Amino acid sequence: MTHPEREPIAAAPEFDEAGHGSGQFFRFVVDNAIDGFFVIDKLRRFIEVNEALCRMFGYARDEMLGKTPLDFVAEESHVELIAQIQRIDSTEHRRYRLLGQRKNGSTFPIFLNNTTFHGPGGAVAGSFGFVTDLTSLVEAEQAVVASERELQGILDNMQDTYYRTDVDGRIVRLSPSAEKLLGYAPEQAIGKSLADFYFDPRDRESFLKTLAASGGSISGYESCLRHRDGHEVWVLTNAHYLRDGEGRVIGIEGTTRDITERRRSEARIEFLAHHDPLTELPNRLLLRDRLERAIAQGERTDTRVALLFVDLDRFKTVNDSLGHPVGDRLLREAAQRLCECVREMDTVGRHGGDEFLIVLTELRDNDAVTRVAEYVLAAMSVPFSLDGHDVAISCSVGVAIFPADGRNFDELLKKSDIAMYHAKEAGRNAFRYYTERMNIDALERLDLQNRLRRGLEQGEFVLHYQPVVELATNRIVGAEALVRWNSPDGGLVAPGRFIPVAEECGLIVPLGDWVLGEACRQLRRWHDAGHARLYMAVNLSAIQFRRGSVEESVIRALRDSGADPGSLELELTESILLQGAEHVLASVRQLKGLGVRLSIDDFGTGYSSLAYLKRFAVDKLKIDQSFVRDLPADADNAAIVRAVIQMATSLNLRVVAEGVESEQAVQHLRELQCDYVQGYHLGRPVPADEFRALIA
Ligand code: C2E
Ligand code: MG
Ligand code: MG
Repeated sequence: MTHPEREPIAAAPEFDEAGHGSGQFFRFVVDNAIDGFFVIDKLRRFIEVNEALCRMFGYARDEMLGKTPLDFVAEESHVELIAQIQRIDSTEHRRYRLLGQRKNGSTFPIFLNNTTFHGPGGAVAGSFGFVTDLTSLVEAEQAVVASERELQGILDNMQDTYYRTDVDGRIVRLSPSAEKLLGYAPEQAIGKSLADFYFDPRDRESFLKTLAASGGSISGYESCLRHRDGHEVWVLTNAHYLRDGEGRVIGIEGTTRDITERRRSEARIEFLAHHDPLTELPNRLLLRDRLERAIAQGERTDTRVALLFVDLDRFKTVNDSLGHPVGDRLLREAAQRLCECVREMDTVGRHGGDEFLIVLTELRDNDAVTRVAEYVLAAMSVPFSLDGHDVAISCSVGVAIFPADGRNFDELLKKSDIAMYHAKEAGRNAFRYYTERMNIDALERLDLQNRLRRGLEQGEFVLHYQPVVELATNRIVGAEALVRWNSPDGGLVAPGRFIPVAEECGLIVPLGDWVLGEACRQLRRWHDAGHARLYMAVNLSAIQFRRGSVEESVIRALRDSGADPGSLELELTESILLQGAEHVLASVRQLKGLGVRLSIDDFGTGYSSLAYLKRFAVDKLKIDQSFVRDLPADADNAAIVRAVIQMATSLNLRVVAEGVESEQAVQHLRELQCDYVQGYHLGRPVPADEFRALIA
């Protein structure tokens, strides 16, 4: 291999390739080196030094030659140097730092790179080495250390918290006050992402956006951080980008100041402007605002708003006989009880003295109002335990409704006040609507609830059964149990009239249990009579899932009747599955575990997707009658039914079409390959003995 031609060094003396003159070249290099160069013999005396070394130490060449290295080193480095010289025999290369001493006595840091060399027999002949003057390097180092120490001193004494992040937002530096602010000592926080400290991690994004939008520097930015123990810490932040020499962002640096206390007192002042200090309830000002907002919303969504005027009966007696402190305690307790009577979106406020106001929003009818008024009366009639006294009071409630009774706070307040007086006149511990007709409705509803309750005790409910026909075989394969009320004064009442009321007052739970029990008993009877293929469908209400234990009720009904779980089918509505999914999912899994089948009733009237329903492992869909009734004439409905059947089939679900009223509909559904049909055309819901005749 040939080497490429090298350029000769410009000022170098001539030398040929054989090496003549190379000694001269070597001399040239050594004398022009920036580092000092030396050779010492085996007696540890300088036999060669270059110009740089002489310059470094302030001596002439002759003054150095023949001296030992010890003559050029500060006294405090003597021990170290002797130790290094002793290693010449044993260690080939040595690198170490010393304090050199110049001719004028001044000292300076040096770095030595020292190598042993050997004579012809292999014995140690001496050593040579290079010396670097470290003065400027050490000065720079010291400057860094000093400024670092200065910075740390500032940070240590800072009230605010200083932080710096790298380009990825990870903390690389934090002042000690962080521990007071967030509960993390700097070493615990370094390496974490800034986002980890925000109360809501999304705030980090808004902070970054604001910082970017303001050109990389902001001051007075408010945000909420999370203390290590979980509480909110409000801070005011100044921050700017850190950039490298080329202007690229390499991190963020800033300071934050704890303003939690200030926020708290501001919030307290703000709170007191709108709340009653004794009960902490909204005051009149805030109530007026809430009511007017509710009215605006009611106008938009065509819903009602109710204002309830609640006045404690005989509160004055409590105050006079037991003293004001006890009276105050009663008011606080009463306020709390009132809050438990309403929904999240409603407002309970204090009007003054022993008068409270309640705003109920987004009402479709007056039922919820009547219910809340009843809760309020019940809640207030439980004796208050105060200072060892059991104090029994009650209250009177007046109700005014937007839009019927008025369209603003003052009108509704006046009318609810008048209604409250009517309640007092009626003997206290009562509620009255301002509008007489509403009082009658409320009474009727109350009356209906009582009659239903009595009806359940007296065994006034019966089940009718509607056949379900399998299209492939034209045979009745199932029955849907539909409840009716044999009311003593109204004849046979359809479920549409009483199920909503039973749901509202919770009666649906015991009623639903009765239906399950009765349907299972009937199923067992038919099976025993030889109709082994017949299944029984039972409707369940959302309230049964929310308030009762459906699983237990089903287990009990199956056990008591001895009916076959595989022949029981529970009809759920989409709304059951859409609310509280996880809790419902658990119930549904348990039901499936029992071996019972599940179907979705009135499918198409909710908003659920089939994919969602599939999670619940349902077996069947019952297409709502509104899509089926006019088949095949209504083209839109025909298309919907066709699509539902196709989708259900691909998800391996069976399909029942409900509300089949004509032979044409049956034919059409047959063409669409619907599995089952149910409707007046195939058979109306009938009592058990008539149904028996149908299947016989
Ligand atoms: P659903 O479960 O969808 O029951 C079908 C309803 O449609 C029944 O009304 C049935 O009589 C009626 N129907 C059946 N075929 C036809 C038809 O061809 N044309 C028309 N126009 N209607 C037909 P019903 O018995 O009045 O029940 C109404 C709803 O009450 C039921 O709807 C169900 O949601 C509920 N319900 C009935 N019994 C119970 C029960 O025991 N528990 C619960 N939670 N709800 C029940
Ligand atoms: Mg049903
Ligand atoms: Mg239905």
